[in-house]
Amino acid sequence: MKTFKIALIPGDGIGPEVVAEGVKVLQAIEQLDPAISFSFTEFPWGCEYYLEHGKMMADDGIEKLKGFDAIYLGAVGYPGVPDHISLWDLLLTIRKEFDQYVNLRPITLLNPALTPLKNKTAEQIDFLVIRENSEGEYAGAGDWLFKGKPEEVVLQTGVFSRKGTERIIRYAYEEAKRSNRTLTSISKANALNYSMVFWDEVFEEVGKEYPDVQTYSYLVDAASLYFVTEPERFEVVVTSNLFGDILTDIGAAITGGMGLATGANINPERSYPSMFEPVHGSAPDISGKGIANPIAAIWSVSQMMDFFGEEKWGKAILSVIQEMLHEKESLTSDLGGESTTTQLGDRFVELLAARSSELV
Ligand code: ATP
Ligand code: MG
Repeated sequence: MKTFKIALIPGDGIGPEVVAEGVKVLQAIEQLDPAISFSFTEFPWGCEYYLEHGKMMADDGIEKLKGFDAIYLGAVGYPGVPDHISLWDLLLTIRKEFDQYVNLRPITLLNPALTPLKNKTAEQIDFLVIRENSEGEYAGAGDWLFKGKPEEVVLQTGVFSRKGTERIIRYAYEEAKRSNRTLTSISKANALNYSMVFWDEVFEEVGKEYPDVQTYSYLVDAASLYFVTEPERFEVVVTSNLFGDILTDIGAAITGGMGLATGANINPERSYPSMFEPVHGSAPDISGKGIANPIAAIWSVSQMMDFFGEEKWGKAILSVIQEMLHEKESLTSDLGGESTTTQLGDRFVELLAARSSELV
């Protein structure tokens, strides 16, 4: 029997509402599979904690999280706490301290009715964005000079280290090779004449070690267009922190919206815990109403199971998501259904259990 230790950070707004449904799915797996168990430890960090303690997480928070196999995060951010504080003091700190330098964001259309694009099939929208998650424009490097004076200048520096660039690009080549897919690098070397020229060079250099991987290279502006007009061009995509952040929101838009988008923050060396989270925020406009869509959070559980090497459960969760996306009445209102968050989770567990005889 394997026991996985999971740290729960439900966070703010709809975070706790959707995490509760993800935990329900994990508990169902535990019940259905005698070979797996989970232990959960919850941490009450987020904006409420900030308003009380002046910080988003405990001082020894990173130390506390170290021994876990995975962190399962809801969302952080709430009106009254500046966004850059909630983001930096928790999410970006965890990503950085635990060297979660790979952000895996699947862009997968599971029901063609959910895309706003005309005549696109599920086969045509099915790719994986591998986003650099530790540096680039989100490295926190910059300066604010002559504040408030007429000569005021603000600098936000993109940091691209040899180590940081090589490791993400190599990870992407490995993934393309492993899954026998093409690899597309997205950059902007014509305008960003240091960082992206370097990125392109590294992409080419590392590529020499992978002669069997078919590669493409696009400028980010062209790639944004193709995400919408010809998403079938993409199989595995590797890109920088900023571009990946923006492009994956386009990815969410073409596959059913924020209620479905998931992201895994991976430390491939497994020297520290990796973190799994829905991409959406705390959505204060709908929090407390019981109508948040928990599918993105449940999809994160699928990514977590894959990461644990329990791919059969990762796949099973994905196929139940697909089944549910064809069962309109079981969905939440953002997808045109009438279910509440908890009703969706309950139905999910029912469908998962119905499949378990094929799995265990
Ligand atoms: P952040 O500031 O972190 O981006 P946010 O609160 O702006 O967070 P977003 O994730 O950007 O939230 O989502 C924007 C809007 O999309 C929300 O205000 C909400 O109306 C809707 N939305 C997001 N996630 C969900 C969800 N899981 N279920 C239903 N609606 C959602
Ligand atoms: Mg937002």
